[in-house]
Amino acid sequence: MKTEKEKKREKRKCYLIIECQEEIPCNPCEEACTRGAIEVGRPITRLPCFYPDRCNGCAKCVAACPGLCIYLVEEEEGSDKVIMTFPYEFLPLPGKGESVDIVDSNGRNLGQGIVKRIKNTNAENGTVLISVELNKEIGSKARSILTNGERSAEPELVTEEIEDTADFQVCRCEEVLLSELQTITELGIILAPNLRRFSRVGLGLCQGKACGELMLSELSRLSGVALDELGYPKARPPVRPIKLRELGC
Ligand code: SF4
Ligand code: SF4
Repeated sequence: MKTEKEKKREKRKCYLIIECQEEIPCNPCEEACTRGAIEVGRPITRLPCFYPDRCNGCAKCVAACPGLCIYLVEEEEGSDKVIMTFPYEFLPLPGKGESVDIVDSNGRNLGQGIVKRIKNTNAENGTVLISVELNKEIGSKARSILTNGERSAEPELVTEEIEDTADFQVCRCEEVLLSELQTITELGIILAPNLRRFSRVGLGLCQGKACGELMLSELSRLSGVALDELGYPKARPPVRPIKLRELGC
């Protein structure tokens, strides 16, 4: 005969919302999960794949993700509430039982929730896990919380231009700064394939997937040449690093 606890557990469903969209070399979520419920595999730039049947809701992956883009959802059969666990890296921490604002990925207020659990995971560089009970209907959009000190019904939109963008990294793989692109275009090198040879922009691990569009739009802005006249750098296979043995060598 099943105990009340076992019956309750059967009615409970856990799953993750993983908002990982950039194909960057990253896999702490896979490493953190001892049950094999998250797979990045090879190459390491693949997006994580989640196997809900293997997940026990431990939330280790939520704390381990450096991008803070994994959220755990616990649902109970027949309930119109869910408990969502968010990674949280601000101080002061909210208290258990405190009412917090639930916000979406743009900081828009979706409603309120009640803090049910707070777990300080020293093992994960101090990322704290805050579990909040909230209405199920807002669960799919909920991405973070605002505590008493941060409450804001309508977030202020930052509209002013950033003054100094010279140190902005256009290409993160090869660490190419906007100021370097500017210097190169001032030398008259304005075709995208040539710019690539001079600066190494787009020649890193992502092969221009992350920075290609940005590089072209900045090049167009700096040179005054229309986008469709700049050319598009060729991507040569393999587009991702592979081992020599995979080529049969
Ligand atoms: S919540 Fe736990 S079991 Fe589920 S995927 Fe994350 S680390 Fe694995
Ligand atoms: S740890 Fe986070 S950012 Fe990295 S692959 Fe996993 S979900 Fe994506």
